[in-house]
Amino acid sequence: MIKADQVCKNFGSLQVLKGIDLEVGSGEVLCLVGPSGSGKSTFLRCINHLEKVNAGRLYVDGELVGYRQKGDKLYEISPKQAARQRRDIGMVFQHFNLFPHRTALENVIEAPILVKGESRAEATKRGRTLLEKVGLSAKVDAYPAQLSGGQQQRVAIARALAMEPKLMLFDEPTSALDPELVGEVLSVMRDLAEAGMTMVVVTHEMGFAREVADAVAFMDNGVVVEAGQPDQVLGAPTHQRTRDFLSKIL
Ligand code: ATP
Ligand code: MG
Repeated sequence: MIKADQVCKNFGSLQVLKGIDLEVGSGEVLCLVGPSGSGKSTFLRCINHLEKVNAGRLYVDGELVGYRQKGDKLYEISPKQAARQRRDIGMVFQHFNLFPHRTALENVIEAPILVKGESRAEATKRGRTLLEKVGLSAKVDAYPAQLSGGQQQRVAIARALAMEPKLMLFDEPTSALDPELVGEVLSVMRDLAEAGMTMVVVTHEMGFAREVADAVAFMDNGVVVEAGQPDQVLGAPTHQRTRDFLSKIL
């Protein structure tokens, strides 16, 4: 579903991604871990072309992200084409960014109506089902300010799912939550993984990574230091940098 081939990204003279090679199969969950500033968020943002890669190639579902190839040359696709690619990719951030003046349900149905042209009736029906799936059937008419952080994050997940993405990207979805609210969000993510969603999750929740991930990649300083099965990378890392990092967070 995702293939990263020597992906490089600079911000000016700062090299943030220095040749990332990663693959995520359809229905697989990849957890990305690594210290602050290692490039995890930048890599996620490259996957949906919120950041443009400077070199290397990224493919989602066999399609080159952000560019079109002609001969040996790459041409950037139009903003409209980029938006079309992005529609298939759900993204959930640390801060949920819900619309404050819209209810949970209104947040969820907005994009299907505006972007996909779904009828309000159809979007509402699916929106209710999605909110039920994330355990919020009692909160469809609540405004974000009336919801806990964990509930807001679950609305954000339902909102992303409403676009029927083929792929979900999560950037530290639980790190802004009070500890007692983390579990309810991880549980929704676990259900999603079990239902076969392809996911890339930046997280420091090692229990989640061990249980749910098919693969874990440890990034440091713009490179993937090691990647493999969770038991191996988290339980028996071969690189000193990985061991140092894990000893700090566990
Ligand atoms: P954290 O764990 O703190 O979220 P991260 O691994 O997600 O860190 P990134 O946010 O990808 O790290 O940032 C990687 C590097 O790129 C950092 O040095 C950061 O300052 C830099 N960076 C990120 N976005 C930009 C930008 N838009 N302009 C300039 N530099 C940037
Ligand atoms: Mg980040």
